[in-house]
Amino acid sequence: MNLDFDRGHIWHPYTSMHDPLPVYPVKRASGVRIELEDGRQLIDGMSSWWAAIHGYNNPVLNEAVTCQLEKMSHVMFGGFTHEPAIQLAEKLVQMTPDALQKVFFSDSGSVAVEVAVKMALQYQQAAGHPEKHRLLSLRSGYHGDTFAAMSVCDPVTGMHSLFSKVLPQQIFAKAPRCGFHDSCSDDCIGDFRRQLEEHHQEIAAVILEPVVQGAGGMRFYSPDYLRKARELCDCYGVLLIFDEIATGFGRTGKMFALEHAGVVPDILCLGKALTGGYMSLAVTLTTGKVASVISEAEPGVFMHGPTFMANPLACSVAVASIDLLTGVDWRKSVLDIEKELFSGLEPCRSFRGVVDVRVLGAIGVVELERPVDMALVQKLFVEKGVWVRPFGKLVYLMPPYIIAREELGILTGAVCDVAGSIAERDF
Ligand code: PMP
Repeated sequence: MNLDFDRGHIWHPYTSMHDPLPVYPVKRASGVRIELEDGRQLIDGMSSWWAAIHGYNNPVLNEAVTCQLEKMSHVMFGGFTHEPAIQLAEKLVQMTPDALQKVFFSDSGSVAVEVAVKMALQYQQAAGHPEKHRLLSLRSGYHGDTFAAMSVCDPVTGMHSLFSKVLPQQIFAKAPRCGFHDSCSDDCIGDFRRQLEEHHQEIAAVILEPVVQGAGGMRFYSPDYLRKARELCDCYGVLLIFDEIATGFGRTGKMFALEHAGVVPDILCLGKALTGGYMSLAVTLTTGKVASVISEAEPGVFMHGPTFMANPLACSVAVASIDLLTGVDWRKSVLDIEKELFSGLEPCRSFRGVVDVRVLGAIGVVELERPVDMALVQKLFVEKGVWVRPFGKLVYLMPPYIIAREELGILTGAVCDVAGSIAERDF
């Protein structure tokens, strides 16, 4: 494998072309194990960024792709439709809250967010409120890397300063401070309320990640916040968008994180684990009302249509992935992982330099006082036979749901060892 070519020519995520961090060549992956070119096996703690919930090389998912491949890998969605798209849309409409009836397919999470934002803007315009053209978002949020998505990411970690001349200027409320098990006080939702009171005439929609703020800080917060947010949105004629691209499909212990709160958004974005991590596919669901208002006013259509919309291979594997998930007791698997993460990561709490250890569903987070030295820490994890990729001050685990107890023990043990050695070195 020509790693020099990779280093010289291929841009990896959030990386410099001058002195890129080392990358580890992967030969194959199966179950929860990723095999490197040199034969080393790593236990996967990341599910390839929330996506590979069933692990890798799953025979049922493989079969879904190969079976569809023999029929057609792709066909345009303008003027055509196909069984995989219909089946998937039926499942999604059935699994999500009753009000969410209309399905828009796209090709990645960021695009699903673009679509959600566009829907909200087109809705307000069609409803006679063109002045409602901005979004209210939360600090510490993350929604993707395209422009509308970036504009609603946390302004500091989302690097708004780099793109300030072209980014739409959105409105931000303070990140929720209430813990997952707390109720949300009037004080905690206070800034969100104030922003709406002050700016509601120009706000089309609120966008947030329900219960877990992912890449913006791996923060968990109270479902009660969502109930209050819903009431305020209704009060001010503002749509509510839930970005469940990371939290969807069981990760937080509920099929969708919104179920913790019993709150129904007007628009819902899903992606990542939608295809079990096999292919890039995302979806934006909305209510009959939003769809009707958009469809009744000029131009009478929703203005989006990606080339690979509802790709049949991706839809087929998504259908198979959902069947695989719902065909087993996934809640128990996630609950078992939660218990192991609690006990396995708890020792980190006493280390110097660790400010918090938190677990929700199949997500375990060790928050440090200072950012880690990525190159060093990554190497330490690989030497311990695990794949854990921290960012900033956060070392976290979100393994595939099929992980065995002993394998999870190896992952949590490695996180404790590495957090401990960071503490010894830095403090
Ligand atoms: N929203 C959330 C909550 C995410 O976690 C991500 C990806 N990390 C995205 C949107 C963007 O998805 P994608 O990377 O597929 O564009």
